Amino acid sequence: MAESLQYFSTNHKAPQVSFGEALLQGLAPDKGLYMPQSIPTFTSNEIQSFATMEYYEIACAVFSKFLRNDIPYNELLSMCKDAYTFDVPLEKVYNRKYIMRLDQGPTASFKDFAGQMMGRLMQYYLKQKGTHKLILTATSGDTGSAVASAFYDLQTIRVAILFPKDEVTLRQRKQMTTLQKNIHVLAIDGKFDDAQAMVKEAFSDKDLQYLELTSANSINIGRLIPQIVYYIYAYSRLAKPGSGEQAVFCIPSGNFGDMMGCVFAKHMGLPVKKILVATNDNNEFEVLLQTKQYTKIEPSKNCLSSAMNVGHPSNLARLIELYGGNMDETGMLHKAPDFAAMNRDFYSLSVTDAQTHETIKRAWNSYNVVLEPHGAVGWKCVETYVAQNGEQADELLISLETAHPAKFPEAIVTNIGIDPALPPSLQGIEDKPEAFDNIPANYPAFKEYLLNKF
Ligand SMILES: *Cc1c(COP(=O)(O)O)cnc(C)c1O
Repeated sequence: MAESLQYFSTNHKAPQVSFGEALLQGLAPDKGLYMPQSIPTFTSNEIQSFATMEYYEIACAVFSKFLRNDIPYNELLSMCKDAYTFDVPLEKVYNRKYIMRLDQGPTASFKDFAGQMMGRLMQYYLKQKGTHKLILTATSGDTGSAVASAFYDLQTIRVAILFPKDEVTLRQRKQMTTLQKNIHVLAIDGKFDDAQAMVKEAFSDKDLQYLELTSANSINIGRLIPQIVYYIYAYSRLAKPGSGEQAVFCIPSGNFGDMMGCVFAKHMGLPVKKILVATNDNNEFEVLLQTKQYTKIEPSKNCLSSAMNVGHPSNLARLIELYGGNMDETGMLHKAPDFAAMNRDFYSLSVTDAQTHETIKRAWNSYNVVLEPHGAVGWKCVETYVAQNGEQADELLISLETAHPAKFPEAIVTNIGIDPALPPSLQGIEDKPEAFDNIPANYPAFKEYLLNKF
């Protein structure tokens, strides 16, 4: 039996823990993020064998590498089969350029891929320990609903979700506020970064220890591992069999959890040539790659692709760690990463709202492809990358569409005059009754709420 893989904190001041503990803790006690001691790898034969495997089987293969024998294989396989019942469409745009639509899950965003599996994994470990947890989550829109749906009605887990009250759409809000039961929702009079800071402070507050707090944000390692799988899946379906050819992925990014999934996939051995990191006006990563200086964007900028309004992506600490540097939770760069390697592996572009609108129009007019704002930021980044590097018809390039267009109907109706049909999971949601509380964007108010409520 393989020895279990240990997880360390990016701040290097906390003990190493097992996967189960890292999953249940979320943030490490020193406020760092958990990382596996080493990234497990696939052989090229294993990677080739994925071509004939189902999505959930590939998911199980990835999880097995990170969990070793923590969960018996058959149990893990049935969890994966149960979690991944939805389709992952790969839509050809032109030549070998594709859109991967990660919007067929229960809340119609890519965050379902992680949420569905995390709920099952946490339940497994909590049952084993005979304890309970209160999950705190800050959301810029889609995490909240994916988390709410993943943990809804579980006996061992309660959930409190904080969202910036003016930065989520009505549908996004309703997906969180209409569930109720063990799902508690809080509207913050502030921004996503405020909500995230409040959640982080609660985690290190001794007075709240009795609540058994944990997170389901992409600071949780349990969010990242499921996000490795779809890169491997897309490659397995689109790469020329046995060629070992390299693929380019483009990821519309905010807190960089999705992008880290691709980075892990690459380090596991998936032939990835370049990772395109597309952002909205919150361009701190593009600036970092160019100047080697890190400056957070405070407050973060409000853009059309609202789920990406993040001025200081938490997962940057993980990326920097992986490239030999060190960054603490405040964004202070204590040790420079290997910028040459980062510039070789990544390309980043910041896309304006005006360009986002134009891209929605252009993708429809040129290719009959419907994009919502987040996916459009990604596609604009692809267009720019291709323009700079020259069109290579044979190059495999996969751009992610992270939400269903029906979640952002305004931008689609305005630009292409189509009101996209709601996926079944969102139908009827506008008519359901909501429940949520309002609090100001400061920590004492949040703490008082938690002490009174739980
Ligand atoms: C959360 C989200 C993103 C950004 O993902 P990160 O992992 O935070 O970078 C992009 N698009 C949509 C629709 C999202 O919900």
